[in-house]
Amino acid sequence: MIRVWRERIVFFLTTILLTILVISYEPVLIAEAQSSTPTPTPTAARSFPPVAYPNRSLSASPAQLPPLPYAYGALGKAIDAETMKLHHDAHHASYVNNLNDALKQYPDLQKRSVEALLVDLNSVPENIRAKVRNNGGGHLNHTIFWQLMSPEGGGQPSGAIAQEINQTFGSFDAFKKQFNAAGAARFGSGWVWLVRNPQNQLQIVTTANQDNPITDGLYPIMGNDLWEHAYYLKYRNRRAEYLNNWWNVVNWPQINRRNLSLGTLRER
Ligand code: MN
Repeated sequence: MIRVWRERIVFFLTTILLTILVISYEPVLIAEAQSSTPTPTPTAARSFPPVAYPNRSLSASPAQLPPLPYAYGALGKAIDAETMKLHHDAHHASYVNNLNDALKQYPDLQKRSVEALLVDLNSVPENIRAKVRNNGGGHLNHTIFWQLMSPEGGGQPSGAIAQEINQTFGSFDAFKKQFNAAGAARFGSGWVWLVRNPQNQLQIVTTANQDNPITDGLYPIMGNDLWEHAYYLKYRNRRAEYLNNWWNVVNWPQINRRNLSLGTLRER
């Protein structure tokens, strides 16, 4: 009987001792694991701040269709009501639904912002990467796009963006000409953008399909949709005419809110 109890006590003490050893070694093991796989240096793109709104990123848990900030027919100076309704209620809505569908098996990815997914597409599993790229991009691009237009829009740019456009492109007219020419020259579907580049300069770029400039480390200040669904009902194949009329609804106060310097962007 005494022998049985002695064995039990020895077993009990050994268990406690082993537990203490494991607990006390754990920090060492974690430290070793960290030092053997150093954290990769974040790229410029990864450290990019929210771009969906001037001060807020786009949630993916779940992605939601933002309401249009005006009536379908309010942008008649450039875009007809039927195009706006289809564009927002059908096209943008399907990007939102498809993004949620792609992420439904990946709760960890849903916790990231849409921006964070798009700046680090390589970290998205390969089987959903194209779907996230196209539909996450579509959701982000259209969320930005609706804000860039207003029924009271158009006219000459105001504020700091006006000065910087003049300094960079010579004049507003020269900028418009260059922006429209880049948009007309983009083959197929895509977007034309005014971005801030890593040298803190304004630059006009185009992207294919629903790619957003943040994937290339560029901060989108404003952009226009070059997909036929953005203009075909009213303008048919006349993309240049649509690009020209679009300036009649451009929301310069909102573009000024998005026109952040690289210093401000890095502080976020
Ligand atoms: Mn579109």
